[in-house]
Amino acid sequence: MLKSSVVNLLDSLNVADSDRDALVVGDSSVSYGDLTTRAAQWRGRLVAQGLTVGDHVAVLAGNSIDFVLAHLACVGAGLVLVPLNPQAPQPELVAELAAVDPNAMIVGPVGADAYAALRGSGVAPPIAFATTDALCAAGCIDLNSPGPEAEVVSVEADHPAALLFTSGTAGPPKPAILTHGNMASSIAAIRALPLDFETNSHTLLAIIPLFHVFGLNVILNFGLSIGATLVLGDFEGPDQAAATIRARGVTIMAGPPALWASFLGSNAEARDFESVQLALSGASKLDGRVAEALRERFGLDVREGYGLTESSGILTSAMGTSAPRGSVGQMLPGVELRIVDQAGSDVLVGDSGEVLARGPMISPGYWNDVDATERVRDDEGWLRTGDLAIVDENGFISIVDRLKDLIIVSGFNVHPVEVEAALQSHDEVLLAAAVGEPGDAGEESVVAYVILRPHASLDEAALMEHCRGRLARYKVPRRIAIVDAIPTTAVGKIRRRDLGA
Ligand code: AMP
Repeated sequence: MLKSSVVNLLDSLNVADSDRDALVVGDSSVSYGDLTTRAAQWRGRLVAQGLTVGDHVAVLAGNSIDFVLAHLACVGAGLVLVPLNPQAPQPELVAELAAVDPNAMIVGPVGADAYAALRGSGVAPPIAFATTDALCAAGCIDLNSPGPEAEVVSVEADHPAALLFTSGTAGPPKPAILTHGNMASSIAAIRALPLDFETNSHTLLAIIPLFHVFGLNVILNFGLSIGATLVLGDFEGPDQAAATIRARGVTIMAGPPALWASFLGSNAEARDFESVQLALSGASKLDGRVAEALRERFGLDVREGYGLTESSGILTSAMGTSAPRGSVGQMLPGVELRIVDQAGSDVLVGDSGEVLARGPMISPGYWNDVDATERVRDDEGWLRTGDLAIVDENGFISIVDRLKDLIIVSGFNVHPVEVEAALQSHDEVLLAAAVGEPGDAGEESVVAYVILRPHASLDEAALMEHCRGRLARYKVPRRIAIVDAIPTTAVGKIRRRDLGA
């Protein structure tokens, strides 16, 4: 059993031929052999500064070679990786640093500004590492300077590998502990799917942020575990991404619905996606119309997966199954799922209930936050996901909505996704977000924010009329605001807490 064994997550990532390209960024590439050597050198620099097993290392780098080296160096040394979003607003980074109290920080070129601001406010950790001359001149330790390499250390399977901040769409982000055993089990579960994951033969597009579990474990770690070539970088929009997919012959790609939808607004063509064998959407619900349009225009059969930060990645997947459109498929091998009512009893087929998940990929809890951990984990190891789902007679699961996003209007439940779907069924609507606005006596009413397509001529009254024809009266928004932008997280989830929910 993984629980009691002594391992290192890196053991399951070291399978590729050493001369095979591990990472490709623009015109440069790094082979698996070079990656292993350089990670051992970086590990040497970290250890030489006195960092020891269990210390926290925050990483501010985009989807870059530096990020991957930081990850491999930290995890291999038994240090705990804390990847942060270099584009996050300063107060969010300050709060995140305070929550995890890192012993050191690794700063990539894209994190330089954020790091300077953190240092200016006196909240940066005492030791910082970097690779650029400018940052090293400003006091960071050069990770590329010569020196001894450090070996990969063995740790217990329940040793933390990373602290990953949840998306925090409803409340502030919380750092979930993911252990070596959690991440390795999640990767093993994906690899156990009856799909072609032949070693040394795939090319993955790593376009989603690597500081999020979807990028870190489902793409990066999984990709390394099958000896894939990972194409990284900050792509300038969907046209450039599509051109890269074609030029590099990408075989597996994954991303949130916002990424998939962006291709529909681009000049991409079906031949750009000819090499793609597996296309996965996750992080939030994929609009059925978007999935259909992607199939028609590009021949892409985008399948959904569902999971959380706290589950180290995906728990269910429709890839390689006959799951109907809109379903997130079936649970992965090794995952236990239940769908329960408020009393904790299993719901009947077709009824909605909260998803509970158990298995070796489930996080032991949040760092330094026993209360938050107890709210989501019970004594038997079940994680309360806070998601409402329905299972059909074939075992295929569909996510209905997030329990905490439910809006209660005069005692009636309103699912924001239903209101959003009604608004988005209008041809002139690009994106809609519905939230509950608190009123007197704990009452809530539905408020919707809508982004219109370019050149649309709709107004609020017409949108209201559109809703009245599609929704029961209590579900019709009390107010609709046409806006230029709706706040989203780095993986495109609507930040409801910023919409006054
Ligand atoms: P986080 O771990 O903070 O990134 O967010 C996890 C949450 O994303 C889950 O609890 C779900 O609410 C949502 N989610 C992930 N995948 C899907 C999906 N395929 N469909 C709908 N919601 C999803």
